[in-house]
Amino acid sequence: MDTYTGKSIFKKIAIGKILFYQKGEQTIKRTHIEEVDAELKRYEKARAAAIEQLDALHEKALKEVGEANAAVFEVHAMMLEDDDYVDSIVNIIESQHVNAEFAVATTGDNFSKMFANMEDDYFKARAADVKDISERLINILSGKEGDQVIGDQPVIVVADDLAPSETVQMDKKKLLGFVTKYGSANSHTAILARTMNIPALIGVDIQEEWNGKLAVVDGYEGILYLEPDGETLARLQKRQQEDLETEKLLQQMKGKEDVTLDGRHIRLYANIGGVKDVADVLANDAAGIGLFRSEFLYLEANDYPDEETQFRAYKTVAENMAGRKVIVRTLDIGADKQADYFKLDKEENPAMGYRAIRICLERTDIFKTQLRALLRASAFGNIAIMYPMIISVDEVRKIKRIFEEVKQELKEQAIPFGDVEQGIMIETPAAVLISDMLAPEVDFFSIGTNDLTQYTLAIDRQNMKLDHFYDSHHPAVLRMIQMIVENGHKHGCWVGICGELGADMTLTKTFLEMGIDELSVSPAFVLPIRKMIRELSIG
Ligand code: PEP
Ligand code: MG
Repeated sequence: MDTYTGKSIFKKIAIGKILFYQKGEQTIKRTHIEEVDAELKRYEKARAAAIEQLDALHEKALKEVGEANAAVFEVHAMMLEDDDYVDSIVNIIESQHVNAEFAVATTGDNFSKMFANMEDDYFKARAADVKDISERLINILSGKEGDQVIGDQPVIVVADDLAPSETVQMDKKKLLGFVTKYGSANSHTAILARTMNIPALIGVDIQEEWNGKLAVVDGYEGILYLEPDGETLARLQKRQQEDLETEKLLQQMKGKEDVTLDGRHIRLYANIGGVKDVADVLANDAAGIGLFRSEFLYLEANDYPDEETQFRAYKTVAENMAGRKVIVRTLDIGADKQADYFKLDKEENPAMGYRAIRICLERTDIFKTQLRALLRASAFGNIAIMYPMIISVDEVRKIKRIFEEVKQELKEQAIPFGDVEQGIMIETPAAVLISDMLAPEVDFFSIGTNDLTQYTLAIDRQNMKLDHFYDSHHPAVLRMIQMIVENGHKHGCWVGICGELGADMTLTKTFLEMGIDELSVSPAFVLPIRKMIRELSIG
């Protein structure tokens, strides 16, 4: 047994085999094939297996995330039956005497390029689907069955570093934990680990030869045990079992009100990164969604997600939440959240760079598409919209003008939409200091303590060397939170916290005393915090 230490992101135990994650797409080799018939049979077998996988995924998704969301698997299975697609692959194998992987990759490239060049948005969006089914086929053919990144069996993913765009694409059902060499405790990859309810260690001296070995991630002590001995394994299995028992006990909190012993109510909401997280929100009985980081829809895609794609995602979330509030934050791209197709310039100081609302107010085409999708989805549930990285009243007024224009367009087109609350994130010191001026402009404030700590303390949240300086309990941060609540309340604005500090149970009482109206936390924290709130008395 070898032990390695790192910094823990989430207190939990993971036990399983390691998958050493290599970045970049796999390269497909072109190999000459003598036995064309055998190759065709191999391809046919892979195609049947892919359809079977997709049918199973469709059935599972129907139960977990609803029909609208599950439809994608049905569409993918149908695409694998498409005559043109199938004929092209067969033809390449027969005429060029090449391996099936190469034929699938070539057909996938050709078809996705063809779709991408079409005028119609619906067909454009199919380009990513063709890529997806082709990758699935190639993974099966090359023996990497199942999920495109991590295979069939749940694994502990070990990597140098993981970008949010990579993490979000992994199938969380098969992710037991993360171990990385780089990355900071306040990065979005760390936040995603907490949202996914899995332990993660950063700053570990990882090695490629760990691939396939049994390991235990101890998120309590920040230790990775490689090929653990019997005693260690038994001890940590016991701890894992105790965690499960605690989780079971917490189930008793479901359906209970979020109210203190002396009658103070607070709204306990959950943070999500995408449609697939809604199942956890429901399983943990959050009263709403306080932060839907919509930029993950953009990070998952190969091109700007069109209005229809976004509308379907927001509508599914709103419908699944069945009338409970869903606060969607508009695109907060930039800094560590990068999508190639935005073609953003490399910047010296990306956290203070061209990002979030700054992009949206210049690229109004992107912004309007998102607002249209959100407004259309608001006809199907209780959607609220909030805007990130605000620093001025002028920005808010510009946003509101654009929002009114979009509403007017929808009215003229007789497209229905509901009443939508509008709020802003308070995550810059500028917004805190003018919160009395901002409050009359909006319905609510949501405090982004992750960025607010970074900008107030001048500590880059991405820099792992500064993790121990990143002190969200700093009196400057706490005073700012108090000031935001006071200014918000003076002007009829409700105030919540959606940054990671909202889940810090050493501060729950303080937040209640300050008058915070809402806390939005990773789904796994909802029930423990509910339990604490119900045992508190704030006088
Ligand atoms: C924050 O800054 O606190 C926040 C919630 O937004 P993000 O972590 O996505 O920047
Ligand atoms: Mg932020």
